Amino acid sequence: MFDSLSDRLSATFDKLRGRGALSEVDVRGAMREVRIALLEADVALPVVREFVEKATEAAVGQNVLRSVTPGQQVVKIVNDALVEMLGGGDGAEPAELNLNVNPPAIIMMVGLQGSGKTTTTAKIARRLKEREGKKVLMASLDVNRPAAQEQLAVLGTQSDVATLPIVQGQQPVEIARRALQSAKLQGFDVLLLDTAGRLHVDQALMDEMKAVADIATPHEILLVVDALTGQDAVNVATNFSTQVPLTGVVLTRMDGDARGGAALSMRAVTGRPIKFVGTGEKLDGLEQFHPERVAGRILGMGDVVSLVERAAETIKVEEAERMAMRMEQGKFDLDDLRAQLGQMKRMGGLSGLAAMLPGVKQVKQAMASGAADDKHLVRMEAILSSMTVKERQKPEIIAAKRKIRIAKGSGTTVQDVNKVLKMHQEMAGMMKKMKKMGGLKGLAKMFGG
Ligand code: GDP
Repeated sequence: MFDSLSDRLSATFDKLRGRGALSEVDVRGAMREVRIALLEADVALPVVREFVEKATEAAVGQNVLRSVTPGQQVVKIVNDALVEMLGGGDGAEPAELNLNVNPPAIIMMVGLQGSGKTTTTAKIARRLKEREGKKVLMASLDVNRPAAQEQLAVLGTQSDVATLPIVQGQQPVEIARRALQSAKLQGFDVLLLDTAGRLHVDQALMDEMKAVADIATPHEILLVVDALTGQDAVNVATNFSTQVPLTGVVLTRMDGDARGGAALSMRAVTGRPIKFVGTGEKLDGLEQFHPERVAGRILGMGDVVSLVERAAETIKVEEAERMAMRMEQGKFDLDDLRAQLGQMKRMGGLSGLAAMLPGVKQVKQAMASGAADDKHLVRMEAILSSMTVKERQKPEIIAAKRKIRIAKGSGTTVQDVNKVLKMHQEMAGMMKKMKKMGGLKGLAKMFGG
């Protein structure tokens, strides 16, 4: 069993390592895995279909970067498509609340009972008060659930946010009207209306919600959905979004083991951005929604994405494999040294490389010594470039006169040229020794072989 989609994709594609462009047949094969993973992550079927179509289109014909496997590349493509679909267009920016209105900005909260609506109302109020210094008023319009209004009042006290005084027997529309009036008269910046939920979507609930929306003309209508309810959440979202003009979604219980599929469904079904996620029972358990984090959760991947992003600049596998082979054979000329230097530079200089080398004490010490700084690397490369191809393959033919020329050509001194030659000799000697000891496996692996 594979734990994550990225593992599965890698396994599917590893056989194809080294191919150029991704073919349609290959991609469709991989997308079967994507499909299963999305369904397992609780994404609704129509959404899965739409997504797979988009991702397939994006992947077919793409060239596989040299230093990653096709599987890794597909994971990256799928990830990007997820982020786009979750974020809606312009990438990974979290969606904001629309508060740039004549105060009070009115935010109406809707959703099923138990979705976390009341808690989320208090969380948002607290956030606006603490982070943006807003003067916030909360009002509960829930006259169905016993003590719902008291619950909000308690949460208000906890977070030092004002709540509308409770008037027993008042109906939701009346409460909304009163809340609006209070907010205006008392100069509140934001009014949060916590509407009643039901166990299931029913028409009475929808009618009440619409009546409140008519009176309150909210700037934001946020649908609160429990991320753990998976497929059910989709029906809820469909129902609500056809009845009232939602402006955003809040996904609660993302601190649980929800795989994030609900997020993808929500975005697709409502066409509205997810503005917050609930990450705990406490009032500080509210975060902005980051599409890339949820994409990562759905894919269940480690750092495949960043790996692929770095791939273009990092070590080239073929080069590294060739190098490892030559080292195995005990061959190591100045061309190899030059290739090595290029790699070292890409890997963060000598100190970076030294940190990654296990157990090769001599090399580590040599590298760690002050002589081997990055300027030194550049100089060494210049020297090697000033040599002829023949000289790099057979350093022993370099006579004193040529050394002067090479030094001039590279803007260095003959001593510098000698140092490079000496370093090469030492390294070649070490390679031979290591070959005898058979200790190259680790090193070769490290170079990507
Ligand atoms: P409402 O009926 O929709 O108003 O739901 P409540 O706000 O009363 O929340 C129902 C339960 O879910 C409460 O026990 C909350 O503490 C809990 N809850 C709400 N949001 C979250 C969340 O993001 N994470 C966790 N773990 N629990 C939450």
